[in-house]
Amino acid sequence: MHTQTSFQLNLKNGVINMTETYDITIIGGGPVGMFAAFYAGMRNAKTHLVESLADLGGQVNALYPEKTILDVAGYPAIQGRDLITAQRQQLAQFPLTIQTGTPVTNLQRIVEGFAITTPKGITHSKTVIVAVGNGAFAPRPLNVPNVDDFIARGQVSYSVPDKEQFRGQRVLVAGGGDSAIDQALMLESVAESVTLLHRRNTFRGLEHMVDVLHQSSVTVKTPYLIRNLAPTADGAVDVTIKTVGADTEEHVIVDKLLISYGFTSDYHVIEGWDLAFERDRRLIAVDSTMMTSVPGVFAIGDGATYTGKQPLIATGYGEAPIAVHQIMAAYFPDKRGPIHSTSLREG
Ligand SMILES: Cc1cc2nc3c(=O)[nH]c(=O)nc-3n(C[C@H](O)[C@H](O)[C@H](O)COP(=O)(O)OP(=O)(O)OC[C@H]3O[C@@H](n4cnc5c(N)ncnc54)[C@H](O)[C@@H]3O)c2cc1C
Repeated sequence: MHTQTSFQLNLKNGVINMTETYDITIIGGGPVGMFAAFYAGMRNAKTHLVESLADLGGQVNALYPEKTILDVAGYPAIQGRDLITAQRQQLAQFPLTIQTGTPVTNLQRIVEGFAITTPKGITHSKTVIVAVGNGAFAPRPLNVPNVDDFIARGQVSYSVPDKEQFRGQRVLVAGGGDSAIDQALMLESVAESVTLLHRRNTFRGLEHMVDVLHQSSVTVKTPYLIRNLAPTADGAVDVTIKTVGADTEEHVIVDKLLISYGFTSDYHVIEGWDLAFERDRRLIAVDSTMMTSVPGVFAIGDGATYTGKQPLIATGYGEAPIAVHQIMAAYFPDKRGPIHSTSLREG
């Protein structure tokens, strides 16, 4: 079951005050954008957080809410969903304006700051923090003719919002990256059986996790591709798989199919924002203060890059206060900048 939160965020979906000018607008409500919004709240900045997906939490919430994350400081182990719930609670301490389901389509410099365009209107902000991760993302689809019928029946899915839905089921996970391995191992504890199918003989996942996979009860089938889905007489899914490089086919009968082919990210609109990118990797270049090539626009999290950058949650959490403090010092010098969070609250 999803954890229910007992607090209210200042959600203003669909209703924005067009005359409002924010101190800081944060584009992207993943874990890093959320932490930046919290930190901006700590600095009493008038803050607007805009997220294209219906929910906050970025990749963590959308792609691996059930995964146990081991490398966030202060948590020996925490599920993705619980981390985002904790961040929501942290955010709820401040009267921020948060808009979900609102993709930012344009970012333009105006006389005093920036105009931020979304399908719901235009807002103004003195400064901007871009925390867009890999762009507005969507799962990479399984391309077989009748896949939508199985999605509608809940037998094919692209994420695991609740692993209880897989309890006692025969599950086929398709994919070869970290995400597919994580999901297969996560479902091992609840499913009747888990098969992991990959089109190559080697996995792209972390070596340690590949070792854990091979020691687990997960049946690993390589190198195979999914060719067709058909319903069985008793309501299961007959998955036709084909050996890569040969014409042999097999059938795997399962109750649920989890497609973990990664995700496509739509960076198209962001590329038009006139920031300096590392073009090959579609990452926004920033300096040591997280400022982009455009003064007043900062970038943090997976979408920002510099020498030595590691795209991790912990890295982005560190970048958020750097950007916020830099903005406050450079654009709002009258606001005193305490050193520690406790003095921020008391001051
Ligand atoms: C399977 C998997 C497992 C992982 N495991 C770990 C782990 O164990 N530990 C770890 O540290 N990291 C892990 N990561 C990486 C971690 O998830 C990322 O580092 C983290 O999510 C980056 O956060 P972010 O806020 O920068 O970006 P994201 O999480 O990508 O969030 C960016 C948000 O911006 C939104 N957005 C994009 N474009 C727009 C727009 N134009 N307008 C409005 N909103 C927009 C997106 O919809 C998204 O919600 C994992 C990643 C994956 C895929």
